Order: sequence, then C-alpha cells, then structure tokens
Amino acid sequence: FQSKLPDVGTTIFTIMSQLATDHKAINLGQGFPDFNPDTELLDLVSNAMHQGHNQYPPMAGVPALREAISGKVQALYGHHYDSNTEITVTSGATEGLMASILAFVRSGDEVVLIEPFYDSYIPAIHLAGGIPVPVPLQAPTAERPCYQIDWERIRGAINSKTRMLIINFPHNPTGINLRESDLDELERIVDETGILILSDEAYEHIVFDGHQHQSLARRPALAANAVVISSFGKTYSATGWKIGYCCAPVALSSEIRKVHQFVVFTVSSPMQVALATYMQNPAPYLGLSAFYQKKRDRLFEGLKNTRLVPMPSQGTFFLLADYSAVSDLPEAEFARWLTTEHGVGVIPVSAFYRNPHAAESNHGLARFCFAKRDETLDAAMERLAAV
Ligand code: PMP
Ligand code: GLN
Repeated sequence: FQSKLPDVGTTIFTIMSQLATDHKAINLGQGFPDFNPDTELLDLVSNAMHQGHNQYPPMAGVPALREAISGKVQALYGHHYDSNTEITVTSGATEGLMASILAFVRSGDEVVLIEPFYDSYIPAIHLAGGIPVPVPLQAPTAERPCYQIDWERIRGAINSKTRMLIINFPHNPTGINLRESDLDELERIVDETGILILSDEAYEHIVFDGHQHQSLARRPALAANAVVISSFGKTYSATGWKIGYCCAPVALSSEIRKVHQFVVFTVSSPMQVALATYMQNPAPYLGLSAFYQKKRDRLFEGLKNTRLVPMPSQGTFFLLADYSAVSDLPEAEFARWLTTEHGVGVIPVSAFYRNPHAAESNHGLARFCFAKRDETLDAAMERLAAV
C-alpha cells in the first residue's frame, strides 16, 4: 500500500530520549520537567478519582474546567470565550492542533507556517491533504542576537489558496516571543486576507524578563479569526497527562469538536476535575515565568564556562546553543555524539526544518531544555565543560 505519510518516521523527541536512556545520559533533549507537579494538584486528582469522577465527561470537556479556562483567558487577555460553545478540552495541545488542522484544511489548501516549526504541524497538514508553505525566520546577526519574524515574507506567501497561518509563540525551538507590534502586523494581515490563524500558545505562561505573553486573544479582530491553543502539560509540569485546550469563536469551535469527538471523544475526567479546582488559584501559572527564568539563567551562565555559546531565550523552557567551536558535524550527528560520548542529550534544531539533512537546515545549533532540577542542570554543565 501507499503510505499517507511516506516521509514520517519516529519523532526526534522519542528517538533522542531513547538514546539518552540507553546511554545513561542526562536528558536535556525532549521538553519535559524532571520534577513532579505540585502535590496539591496530585491530591486533587486522587480525590477526584475517589469521588467517582472516573467515567466519560462531556465531549467538549468538564464544564467547570471550561469555565476556569474562560475566566483565566478573560482575566489575562481580556477576551471572553463562552465556556459552553467556544472552549474545547483536548488531549494535549497536540490533539487540538490536529483537530483544528483536520477541521479546516481541505485538499489542495495551502498552510503558511514559520520555519523552524514544531514537528506535528506538517504531518497534520499532509493528512488533511494540504500543502505546507514554510517561511523562514530571519536568522540572528552580530547586531541582533535573536531570530526575527519576517512579516514581509509571510505576507508574500499568502495567496487565494492559503487556508491557514500557523504561528507558535513563545516559539519552540528558538524561544522568541511576539511583541505588541507583531499583533498589529497580524491584524493587518487578517484585515487584508481574512485568513484563519492557528496560534499554538503552549508556552503562554513561560515568558521572561518582565515581558507579557502576546496572546491573540488580546485583540478582538484576531480572536475572531483564530484558534488559540494551550497545554496544561507545560503550565503545570505534567506533560504525561496530555491535556490542553482550544479557544475559538463558536463557528470554528463547533467544527473542531466534530473532529475531536471522533479522534478521542473526550479527555481523562479526574484530571479535568482536578485542574478545574487547581486553576482557581492563579499563583502557580503567574509564578511560572519567574521559576523558569532562574533556570534559564543558570543554564545560560553555566554554558559560558563551556565551548558552547548560548543564545538568548525570551520564553519557553528551551534555549539554543552554538556548538561550532566544538564540532562541524551536522546537527543530528552532533546531538547523537554529545549524547553517546559526553552523556548529555539534546535536540538538533534541524529537526524543526522541512529538510532536516539539507545544509540550509544545519546551523551548528542544539536545543537544550532547562525544565530540570538545578542538580540536573549543574551535572549536565559539568559534563559539557569537558566537551
Ligand atoms: N506545541 C508546541 C510548540 C510544543 O512544544 C508542544 C510539546 N511540547 C506541543 C505543542 C504539544 O503539547 P502537548 O504535550 O500538550 O500535546
Ligand atoms: N514538545 C516537546 C519538545 O519540544 C516534545 C513533545 C513530544 O515529545 N512530542 O521537546
């Protein structure tokens, strides 16, 4: 038979985590915390199970959780999503992305996305029969050490066949954020083209240096044309729970739900009940940026004692480092070598490009995850100092 996804293998995150395990390496590759969620949240899950929340919840999610999400989004970004009709609890951000792409992208539709990009977007576009149109970020320069969004090129990539623009800020893997002026750019694009935006805001609560997350929900004209997606795995250090959500106007949400109900139908009930209660206290998500900023700084400063050169990270729990003073291997080979020979697992940034092996996708960069205990980061840096 003919594969529907001939170019897809096992994801880089699974491959690199397995390699790290096999070689007893410290895993700074795949993005997950090496510490437990808050015990209060764990107790709430256990209580919910004992209280009998163990059967199917409603298809779109537990009402109390949808209300809590609606309240949070309204408080932080000022937009009201109706919890009955405009919020859907999904099996991680991943399922929200897949359900949205399958719901809106038709055969032959073009989907513009920013390269480097998270690895689930392109296979989802292909399954929908769509055509991915990657637009590169502007690379850093000596004067401007961060990647930048090239709005001119994004605008140029949009035409009458374009169905959707996918964005992801805070950005995995580069750690750049949207600024207010970027929301202005997006508003102009939506005004001129009426394009639908899929905004992957999985790292919405991890933004550094006093900046605020620029959710599309801050602008009514964007919220009216967007699906905004988030991940409780990132926010509450529980990536294995696989719970996230999609916010979108009712006409869009009802299409997303048509897919959602036949992909998973609904999402684990005790976790949803626990999250609904836990969300009443904003302190955990409001404090997350400060918590991770310390870890970012620890890794950034520590890497200065190595031959790897860290790049600034404005958000997410990742930073990129340039290894060109150490090796001229392509990124995938370098990541493998660092894991097997020096005991530190990382992710090659080339995995976030359409053609990972092409020369133009290899810039001598590795992605490091700092969602780790300080001891883990220190032990990794000791190993890296010897590289
Ligand atoms: N989008 C981005 C940008 C991510 O980095 C991730 C995973 N870390 C996801 C989506 C998927 O999130 P989830 O685990 O909630 O499915
Ligand atoms: N999003 C996580 C990362 O970027 C990995 C998620 C996964 O393994 N699919 O590392």
